[in-house]
Formats: sequence, structure tokens, C-alpha cells
Amino acid sequence: MGIRAEVVIVGAGPCGLFQIFELGLLGIKAHIVDSLSQIGGQCSALYPDKPIYDIPAILVCGAQELVHRLEEQIKPFDTRFHLGQEVVELKQNDDGSFHLRTSKGTEFNTQAVVIAGGVGSFRPRPLRLKSIEKYEGETLNYKVQDPEKYRGKNVVVLGGGDSALDWALELSEKASSVTLIHRREEFRAVAASVSKMKALSKVDGTKIRYVIAKVKGFAEKDGGLTGLEVESLEGVTHTIDLEELLVFYGLSPNLGPIANWGLGIERKQIDVDTEKFQSNIPGIFAIGDINTYPGKKKLILSGFHEAALAAFAIQKRLHPDEKQYLQYTTTSPIMHERLGVSGTLD
Ligand code: FAD
Repeated sequence: MGIRAEVVIVGAGPCGLFQIFELGLLGIKAHIVDSLSQIGGQCSALYPDKPIYDIPAILVCGAQELVHRLEEQIKPFDTRFHLGQEVVELKQNDDGSFHLRTSKGTEFNTQAVVIAGGVGSFRPRPLRLKSIEKYEGETLNYKVQDPEKYRGKNVVVLGGGDSALDWALELSEKASSVTLIHRREEFRAVAASVSKMKALSKVDGTKIRYVIAKVKGFAEKDGGLTGLEVESLEGVTHTIDLEELLVFYGLSPNLGPIANWGLGIERKQIDVDTEKFQSNIPGIFAIGDINTYPGKKKLILSGFHEAALAAFAIQKRLHPDEKQYLQYTTTSPIMHERLGVSGTLD
């Protein structure tokens, strides 16, 4: 029948993580699922090294640092993480509880669901060449699972963002050669990585080089992927040989299965009220970038507020007959116990 959970949170971005904290303060344990293999949502996947300036009381904080801080903050609570799996199914049972199933077959039965799915599940933007997908997971990959796979190989890396540059630089220490192919002169990656890559490519006997060209096709031999056909800015076509191909064209968000769960959706966002941040289905809440209501602003700060109010609404749903109190973390002994702190500054 699957895992029995008080609450299941779909999405481990900053808002899903803070939802764990707000529930934990009220003594409610959560399971959290994310299709990515890491927590942090957009902060970790899209801009880990960029500074954020509008988190209350923190002058400046790197996006990945914010995720680490949130992770630290929820440590006292016994959270179960289910990463690298997408929630593909959400159904209401006859008794009003919910059944969820993930792409890895993990099943949950729960009284409440919080959808903190941001802009949807992230998937790598694919290399659009007819039939090249047959090499996916073998010669063609969208992430580096084990850098050792590339030792002594001729590697081609596609893309102009941070992931492409970072991996091209890192793998150049292991690979026989690394060729970075980008379609234009301007790179999106941080300037320091671009300068480093360009400088290294000029060193005699270097293993790294970069090519400005459009990918037009691929070459095969004996059932294996052996090269990419590229066209330079001047229109000259040639083939670049390879043994391994890594594509970093960024991640594209996709609302995915969430669209099929019977929720009121407006322009790819879930309609919620502003008292509980509950959807049209009682017991299913939505916080963070995934929700919409009059005046909604897609800010981390807004998602944090939504998480706090959703937690109170979930407490009421789980314990309808209990009186609800607003307690301060400064003075509440039960909250100190849950947080594992003494309640004094020493
Ligand atoms: P997300 O961070 O999008 O996380 C959602 C998670 O849900 C993802 O990990 C996704 O994989 C997962 N998911 C979705 N569907 C499923 C499913 N079916 N099953 C399993 N997992 C699923 N905001 C600010 O407040 N200040 C800033 O300075 C700021 N700067 C930004 C800079 C950039 C470049 C970008 C792109 C955004 C910035 N933002 C900023 C916006 C901020 O990142 C978002 O508001 C925030 O990430 C929303 O958090 P979230 O938890 O709602 O969703």
C-alpha cells in the first residue's frame, strides 16, 4: 500500500524545503520528492553561484548557500527525501486521503499534499538531431555521473553556460581531449570560467579547445556515435570526432504530470486561496512559484510566507478537533524540544 505519510511535499526547491521547517515546528513530519537528484530547485539547478539580496536579514547569500542554510534549518526534523524521481500520479482515495506514485514506483498514502513544484520538473534540453537519442546513456549524456568514464577519451561538450564550461575545464584534466562547441562567441557562463577556458586553449599541448559552430548532424560507424557534423559561422561544414558527447543546453521546466491531477490551473499555475494556499481539492496545497492568486509575486520570500500559512492549515486538517495556538520559537518549550535547542543564547 506504500509509505504512510502525514504530508508529502512535491518539489524540494527553497519553498518545499522551508515547508518542512514550518510543518516541523508544528510537530508534523513530511516526506519530500524531487525529480532532480539534488535538492534546491531553481537555486541549485539554474543559478547556484549567483548572489541573492532579498532574503530577509541576510544581506547577501549565494543561491546554493541559501539551499545549504535551509538544509541545516530542517535537520532537527526527521525528513525523508526521495530524490531523482518525479511524482507521476496523484489520486484521491475514497476516504479523502491521497495516493501518490513516483517514476521509480515509490508509493505514498497521505492526508495532505503540498505541491511546491516551481515551474515544473526540470529536464535537460535535448540535442535535437533525428535519431541521436539511441545513443543516450551511452556515448551521449546530459549529465556527468562518473567523471572517470571520460578518462583518456576524446570528449565533446556542447553548450555555453556554467555547466558546459565547468565540466569542460574539469574533464580536461582527465580526458585525452575536450572540445567545447558553442553556437556563438558570447558565453553565458561566469566570465572567470570563460577566460580560463580561452587562456587554456591557447597553451601549447593543451587538451582543451573551443569551436564556435552550429551542430548540424552526427557521424556513426559500426553502430556507434563517432562524431558531430558542425557548420562554422562562415558556413564551412566539417566533422569533429568524439568518443564521448556531453550536452549542456540547460534545463527546461515542464509542468508535466501536475497538469493531470484535476487541479484548477491557470496559465500553468495552480489556483489557490490566500488563507491556506489550498487548491480546489481540499488537502492539496500549492506554494512557491507553482501557485497563483491575485497579486502573486514569484519570489522566494512569498513562498516562505505561503509555507507558514499552509502548515497551519495542514495542522488543522490533520487534527481538526485540537485547538490551534500561535507559538513563538523564542518562548515555546515544545518548539525548542522539536528544534533540539535550549532556548537560550549561550
Ligand atoms: P523551484 O525552485 O522551481 O523548485 C521546484 C522543484 O520541484 C524543482 O526542483 C522540480 O524538479 C520539482 N518538481 C516539479 N514537479 C515535480 C514532480 N512532478 N515530481 C517531483 N518533483 C517535481 N527569487 C528571489 O526571491 N530572489 C532572487 O534574487 C531571485 N533570483 C533569481 C535568479 C534567477 C536566474 C532565477 C531563474 C530565479 C530567481 N528567483 C529569485 C526566483 C526563485 O528562484 C524562485 O522563486 C524559487 O526558486 C521558487 O522556489 P520553489 O521552491 O517554488 O520552486
